[in-house]
Amino acid sequence: MISRIDLRGAAFAEASLDGGIDRDLLPRAELDVEAALEKVRPICDDVKHRGTAALIDYAERFDGVKIDRTRVPAEALKRALRELDPAVRAALEESIRRARLVHGEQRRTDHTTQVVAGGTVTERWVPVERVGLYVPGGRAVYPSSVVMNVVPAQEAGVTSLAVASPPQADFDGLPHPTILAACALLGVDEVYAAGGAQAIAMFAYGTEECRPVNLVTGPGNIWVAAAKRLLKGRIGIDAEAGPTEIAVLADHTADPANVAADLISQAEHDTLAAAVLVTTSADLADAVDKELDRQVEATKHTERITEALSGKQSATVLVDTIEQGLAVVDAYAAEHLEIQTENAADVAARVRNAGAIFVGAYAPVSLGDYCAGSNHVLPTGGCACHSSGLSVQSFLRGIHVVDYTRDALAEVAHHVVTLAEAEDLPAHGAALKARFDWQVPGQ
Ligand code: NAD
Repeated sequence: MISRIDLRGAAFAEASLDGGIDRDLLPRAELDVEAALEKVRPICDDVKHRGTAALIDYAERFDGVKIDRTRVPAEALKRALRELDPAVRAALEESIRRARLVHGEQRRTDHTTQVVAGGTVTERWVPVERVGLYVPGGRAVYPSSVVMNVVPAQEAGVTSLAVASPPQADFDGLPHPTILAACALLGVDEVYAAGGAQAIAMFAYGTEECRPVNLVTGPGNIWVAAAKRLLKGRIGIDAEAGPTEIAVLADHTADPANVAADLISQAEHDTLAAAVLVTTSADLADAVDKELDRQVEATKHTERITEALSGKQSATVLVDTIEQGLAVVDAYAAEHLEIQTENAADVAARVRNAGAIFVGAYAPVSLGDYCAGSNHVLPTGGCACHSSGLSVQSFLRGIHVVDYTRDALAEVAHHVVTLAEAEDLPAHGAALKARFDWQVPGQ
């Protein structure tokens, strides 16, 4: 079901570039966001000009439900919480508690550097004023994504938070009740029944019902990603999330049943989801293949998982050594990376590129999806080589506050004037000279 890439022997050297493995040789889902841009541009323009009326039309066209407004009434949020299954409530509360523990420790404190006597630079951390959080709700519903978006925003000190999630035909055009209940549990009372590109446009331009936001975060499908790319600049965005990915770096000590179960668990998200096993053991690879056949047959979403595992984005990569395995996973830069090897913590410490790393046999990605305390909104598509997952930092801006006395400025003024002249910007120098009656000390 899952294809093989054999990088053992001479093949490894052939696949190597100067800085590591050629990432184009590794499996990856193809997502044509550029093509989707053309489709979402008129949708976003329409929301800009017609506001709520456009959102109501798109709910009918894309979500198959007639709605007469997008703002979810307060009573619907209260009712969803009242009617929430107590076991789901307890699990969400534990997920929130653990996420708060981790994200609470990510808060930044202002820091002042004394550059010279009388001259300081302070980095002041200020939360974004208003944030829109997108919670997907097309193929599956993700109350866990409410937790993963809202908790870091709240811990960062964001005071104005709005959530959008697609209207559901089965629930009178409201977002899924578990999503509403999760919002209520977190104290979020501004929720919109809006999905896809039109929801991102609502956040960017505002409507009669929704005030525009400064920053939009949260995962979504290709239409959401395309709208984020289109509207970036007008709004800040966290990332353009692509289909989810798991990579497992494993040796002969790994349990094939566990490895197969973990690969399947991410393939369950999406037909484009990627599951990549990188291993030094051909015996393990064979055993995982057998387990995949057995377990995929027995699970609920067999069709979707089979398509994801047999797609060009999924593969088993054979290597000779863990060292080579590390080069492969660094080149791949997976959203989720499991290390199931001997001395897993030591191996994990040597990984440079991954959205999140799960160490050893008892830290499966499913734990991180819900209840590890870590964030599950993570960079996909290889972006983990330059970006991080969602955190408190995503909702903060660091503002430099520059405070110099006359003497401190005088001490460095000649350097400023010299650099301004070297850049042929004499007015920059003049701004200094004006403060010293055109006499710059040291000149
Ligand atoms: P979604 O909410 O992202 O998209 C549903 C919306 O897409 C609909 O409301 C509709 O407005 C729009 N849409 C559907 N067909 C369209 C079309 N032809 N043209 C324009 N718009 C259209 O939900 P989804 O589709 O289930 O996708 C969710 C994605 O988010 C999945 O890929 C999943 O893997 C990912 N996800 C990622 C994370 C993460 O942390 N990285 C977490 C949860 C989900």
